[in-house]
Parts: sequence; structure tokens; C-alpha cells
Amino acid sequence: MAEGRIMKALSGFYYVQSDENLYACKGRGLFRKQKVSPLVGDLVVFDKSSDLEGYIQEIKPRKTELSRPPIANVDQAMIVNSVKMPQFSPLLLDRFLVFIESKRIKPLIIINKIDLANDSDLKTIKEFKAIYEKIGYHVLLFSAKEPRDFMTMKSLFNDKITVFAGQSGVGKSSILNAVKPSLTLETAQISKSLGRGRHTTRHVELLEINGGLVADTPGFSVVDFSHISREELGLCFPEIKTFQAHCKFRGCLHDKEPGCAVKQAVANKEMATFRYDHYLAFLEEIQSRKPRYS
Ligand code: GDP
Ligand code: ZN
Repeated sequence: MAEGRIMKALSGFYYVQSDENLYACKGRGLFRKQKVSPLVGDLVVFDKSSDLEGYIQEIKPRKTELSRPPIANVDQAMIVNSVKMPQFSPLLLDRFLVFIESKRIKPLIIINKIDLANDSDLKTIKEFKAIYEKIGYHVLLFSAKEPRDFMTMKSLFNDKITVFAGQSGVGKSSILNAVKPSLTLETAQISKSLGRGRHTTRHVELLEINGGLVADTPGFSVVDFSHISREELGLCFPEIKTFQAHCKFRGCLHDKEPGCAVKQAVANKEMATFRYDHYLAFLEEIQSRKPRYS
């Protein structure tokens, strides 16, 4: 028996890295009975049947799990935004933050295309940076066109499993290609010059970069809140999570309730109004969704 990590899944084989070797492994019927199938990122126990092959016997408990892209044990997500083209959107950023928080994954905020920012853009972006940093998030201003930024980015990968997320066009593929030159993800520019849409069905693979593992996919560009309950939503805003301990009513949703410490924090300017507005918009979205009977 040996232990290792699934680095990629392809044509029915799981490629398990163990002691510098990659073993092409088959899963056993076991998983079908347990209703769990191995995922890239899983730590597994496997039987070596040769120097190159084996059978997975057991999947270790997962720290986290994502379905799109299908990866287990992701530690952190780089939420990529751009200063312009497309315009920076705090609403979209908050959607990604809530989604990542709900999956118990640590979000990092990247604001890309900083080379395109004029003085007024830069001023705005720095104001947002300060607000998100006060909440406790790491914010990195970045340019995929500036090689000197790459080392800073790479240093964040050490010892972690990282995925990229963010709206289409913000530069996720460009950043991945820049930090791993052997990778050749098609960027929007390339697919345009070849006159075709970007291929979407790719296999996920974990790549070693600077002592960590990074998913070689531009990740997810849309998020939904169908798995988040209205009570859980506040926990996905770190500042609400802190203030809500002082709300008068337990289970306060920080909407119309009296004695709400979160609304008080907004009035006192201890919480950004736009963040609170986004919270209310997401709460509305969650409350008005149709119940699912599946
Ligand atoms: P993705 O959809 O998030 O993977 O975005 P792409 O990596 O395909 O990038 C979209 C477009 O933005 C491409 O034309 C890139 O060349 C361009 N781009 C990406 N990063 C930067 C950047 O830091 N600065 C500038 N000026 N352009 C960038
Ligand atoms: Zn409240």
C-alpha cells in the first residue's frame, strides 16, 4: 500500500503522484457503492500493481470540494478582476467571495491589468483595496504584462492547492501562462486570431509551481448560490460574521430586524455600504429562489 495525490484524471485512469512517480491507477467498484468518486486533488491509498500502475483503495477525507472545476482539497482561490476591459465590478467580486467562502476555501483578490490604469483608476482601485484589506483579504494589484510581478504571484502558491476564478476576459489564462511558461492555455486573443471560440472541455490537471499545486484551468467564471442558506450568507461576509454577534435577535438576517448590529456598523461607517447592499441583494436572491425537490 502507498499514499499519493491524484494529479489528473484521464480516460478512466487517475494519475497518482507518490514519491516522485506517477502511477496510472484504476478506481475500484468500492467508490460506486460509497457514492463517491475520486477527484483530482484527492489524497488516496493505493496498491501498486507495477512501477507505473495501481489500484486506488481508499480516498482520504476531503478538506474542501469543488465541482466546477472538479477538484478536492483546494486551499485557496485567486479571484481575478481587471481594472478595465472588463471594468472592475465590486458586485461580481463579492459574488465570487461569497461563493468561495461558502466552500470554506480561502479567497485571494487579484486586480489585474494594472498597466491599463490611469491616475483616477488607480485612485479608485486603491480605495477598494483598502476596504477589502480592512476586512482581512489579501489584495494584489497585478499585470500579466509585467514579468517583474510574476515572482510575487508565484510566492503565493507555496505549499497550497490553488485555483483561479473570475469573469471571462480578466486575464486568468494570461496569468497562468505567465507563471508557468510551459503551459499553453488559449487566451482570448489567440482564439480570436484563430477565428474560433475557446474550447471549454478540458481535463483538469494539477501543476507544481513554486512548491505548491495549481489547477491548469481558468476555473469558474460564473457562480450560483443554490447551496447557500439565508442563515449561512452572513457567515460568508467576514465583517458581518464579526458584527452579528451583537445583534439583538439570534438568527437576525440584518434586514428589517430592530437592534441589528450590522446595520449599526453600516451607519457608523464600520462596514462599507456597498458590501451591505450586496449582502441584501444576495439575501433577496436566496429568499426568492424556488425550492428544489431533487
Ligand atoms: P481569461 O478569460 O480570464 O482567461 O482572460 P485572458 O487571459 O484570455 O485575457 C483576456 C485579454 O486580456 C487578452 O487579450 C489578454 O492579452 C489581455 N490581458 C490579460 N492580462 C492583461 C494585463 O495584465 N494587461 C493588459 N493590458 N492586458 C491583459
Ligand atoms: Zn443583524
